[in-house]
Amino acid sequence: MSNPTWTNWAGTETCRPETIVKAVSVEHVSEVVADATKRGISVRPVGSGHSFAPLVPTDGIVLDVSALSGVVSVDKEAAQARVLAGSTIAALGEPLWNAGLTLRNQGAIDAQTIAGATSTSTHGSGLELKTMSGSIIGAELITASGELITIGPDDPRLPALRASMGTFGVIVSLDLELEPAFKLKETLDFWPFEEVLARWEEATHSHRHFSFVHGPMYDSSEELPPIPSNMKKPTLVRIYDQVDADAEDDATPSARLDRPYRIYPDVFTEPWEEIEPFAPYDTILDTIGECLEVMERYPSEFPLEARTVAKDDTWLSPANGRDSVAIDVCRPLGQDNLPFFREIDAVMARYGGRPHWGKQPYLHDRETYRNFYPKWDDFIALRRQLDPSGTFLNGPLRAIFE
Ligand SMILES: Cc1cc2nc3c(=O)[nH]c(=O)nc-3n(C[C@H](O)[C@H](O)[C@H](O)COP(=O)(O)OP(=O)(O)OC[C@H]3O[C@@H](n4cnc5c(N)ncnc54)[C@H](O)[C@@H]3O)c2cc1C
Repeated sequence: MSNPTWTNWAGTETCRPETIVKAVSVEHVSEVVADATKRGISVRPVGSGHSFAPLVPTDGIVLDVSALSGVVSVDKEAAQARVLAGSTIAALGEPLWNAGLTLRNQGAIDAQTIAGATSTSTHGSGLELKTMSGSIIGAELITASGELITIGPDDPRLPALRASMGTFGVIVSLDLELEPAFKLKETLDFWPFEEVLARWEEATHSHRHFSFVHGPMYDSSEELPPIPSNMKKPTLVRIYDQVDADAEDDATPSARLDRPYRIYPDVFTEPWEEIEPFAPYDTILDTIGECLEVMERYPSEFPLEARTVAKDDTWLSPANGRDSVAIDVCRPLGQDNLPFFREIDAVMARYGGRPHWGKQPYLHDRETYRNFYPKWDDFIALRRQLDPSGTFLNGPLRAIFE
């Protein structure tokens, strides 16, 4: 029988593993992993396959945990919940809301699993809001021997586990810090680009979320406000402010008021390629001009997006130790986008840019990562301790993490 094919969302990462196993229980995960370790073959956990980076491909076992889904328990007073690792972000919205709680933040889509999203430090926008990994206060993990271990809030391994790209083991549940339910008031608007930059500091400090999308691709849309006819270089600004949970919903396009899990996600059907380096927050006025100059030399319909992220202590979070601005650029499939991405990376690297673990068609070399992250060597040591046989590595991950 021929090997199955696994492909990521964009169709840019693919492999022919020995098997793709859809885990049906924690015990099942444990058996599959223990057996693979005995046989010396690799296991790569996968969520929704929405990463652009070569994190999943293996010739061993692709272990799909998406069936381990749901909210296990909620502590409303403490604003915490235990959720199964394969729950999509979409699947968490309503049950948490019904329990009077909501996720602290989320990104542009909600199709990712919670373990997959946090494992790569998926983020939304908000200068006071960490990546989704920053909400993890505990986890249950199947390690290479098949043993189930618990990592609690005071465990020194927790800040490493929060964003570990599936290299420590298979996460089966996560304990999350949440917020009491609130709603969001959306304001989508077009501002002149110069105004966006002039007001960046004030706007990012005065709203829960302030981000912008700058590029050549706006045309009329029912979702977006009309572009003022005299505006040169219109820039879409996206503002979300927190309002009370009992505020009345409003469905007016570009001025909605609703529950966060209904406001945040977009739906994208056409795939693309993407990178999104994080640089220190206060570098935006330097990085943005240089990135736009590179974009002009590689013309495309795709815009640039800038979002803020609060600093955290997650060892390999791109926002580790510093408030950040993440600059996202996309390009269509079917052409060689690497020269463009490498130029954007080089601009961002000059200002301390660190790549998004899920949004990078290539990984950097080990030395580059060691320079990015103060706890890099500690991460490697812990990974080796938890997975001495390297069961959870594939080729690209072995090159940097072995
Ligand atoms: C259309 C689109 C929009 C996006 N929007 C955003 C955005 O707004 N913000 C942002 O930051 N990112 C965004 N991303 C990137 C995306 O959030 C990340 O790549 C995320 O990791 C994908 O989650 P997933 O469930 O698909 O995980 P996968 O891509 O399947 O896996 C990601 C990593 O998690 C590991 N993993 C998965 N499950 C487990 C588990 N149970 N235990 C241990 N490790 C596990 C995998 O091994 C892998 O290393 C977007 C991607 C796409 C395609």
